[in-house]
Amino acid sequence: MSKKNGSSNVFGAAALACALVAGSTVAGSAQKARRAAVVNPRTAAVREATVEVLRETSEIRKLPVRRQVRSGAQSRAEIEQMLVRNLDENATPEELEASELTLRKLGMTPADFRLRAFLIGLLTEQVAGYYEPKTQEFYLADWIDLDGQKPVMAHELTHALQDQHFDLKRLDKLPKHESDASLAAHALVEGDAMVLMMQYVMRSPARQLAMLRSLITGGAGSTEQYDKAPRVLRETLVFPYVQGSAWVGQVYKRGGWEMVSGAYKNLPQSTEQILHPEKYFTLEAPTKVPFRSIAASLGKGWKVADQDVNGEWGYYLILDEFLQSKESSQKAAEGWGGDRYVLYTGPNKGDVLLTQKTVWDTERDAQEFYEAYAQRTSKRYAAEPSGPEPSVRRFWNTKEGGVLVERIGNTVLVVEGIPETLKVETLVGLLMAKT
Ligand SMILES: [Zn+2]
Repeated sequence: MSKKNGSSNVFGAAALACALVAGSTVAGSAQKARRAAVVNPRTAAVREATVEVLRETSEIRKLPVRRQVRSGAQSRAEIEQMLVRNLDENATPEELEASELTLRKLGMTPADFRLRAFLIGLLTEQVAGYYEPKTQEFYLADWIDLDGQKPVMAHELTHALQDQHFDLKRLDKLPKHESDASLAAHALVEGDAMVLMMQYVMRSPARQLAMLRSLITGGAGSTEQYDKAPRVLRETLVFPYVQGSAWVGQVYKRGGWEMVSGAYKNLPQSTEQILHPEKYFTLEAPTKVPFRSIAASLGKGWKVADQDVNGEWGYYLILDEFLQSKESSQKAAEGWGGDRYVLYTGPNKGDVLLTQKTVWDTERDAQEFYEAYAQRTSKRYAAEPSGPEPSVRRFWNTKEGGVLVERIGNTVLVVEGIPETLKVETLVGLLMAKT
């Protein structure tokens, strides 16, 4: 897989914690790094190759070059600086900690897992080149053999063409706390660049051979960080590339590059539309579940720490973390209509409450999800549920507070970490309130 290329957005928004890296272009102020540095010895070669690869990319993608793209080579230290700066520009330490807490509450990362440090390590390892919409520049890592990197260049220069024609900076301005939509938009951007890259490679047997060789010899290098990443981060990292390629492939099959270009006007709105392209074609829009804080009802010292949308992709990962059955987790997450989760922290250390309100296309879809989530919960907390109406409501007493999973019509509520002082009926009333 050639997902080891960098990209304008190495980390597409994760429905879950990576929400906060959402929409971040992997480059911050690349220019600052440039000014400080002496010209990299490989820059001349990269610039020469840029002109050639850009010309061919433009021809394949059927988008004229409106401006030449400035480019150069960067050292590992420069790329690392850029990544850190960019991460800091896009998410405050508090936001990253909140994401970390959500992931931990869902049982998807170990207790000592530190998101920020981890992301920096992972992104630095994976990046091989990047295009920066803010400065409209393209950089290639200088530790990688240039010849084998032309496909990566074709990928990155597709981003340059996307930017010249569709303005990628606007994707950074998509609403916050809508990570599912943001992840879908990034699947378009990356899928487009991946499909282009494959076409670029397929044009010549020599390129196919070079690519194979680079795959066999390990390509861009280490995957140590990637391999030890929690599954949720690993799979979300590659979502825009893998599922995005499949999606763009479908759009391309239907209407060629013209239709792919049209998707920048009509962005895919959810990971559901990416996973099921027909839902994009028929414009099945997600149901917006509004954000509403219940902090005041939780008592003194409780506050909202995080809120976002998990989406079909997020629920697939949440379920499968414990069900470990790809097929049934996928099936249970299908029929997703919309959702919103809110994470609260309380006055005492360890006070963490997570509420999720999900809506489904039909009652049957809701029931399927309800049952799967209940199964997942028994495994997550290694506890058995109780409750007088097991077909629509289950309750678990756990070391981390009460857990409720309840279906009401097409809606499924999930609350984890319920303090003893809070009555379930009150909680349900608050979450189901219309305004
Ligand atoms: Zn990319």
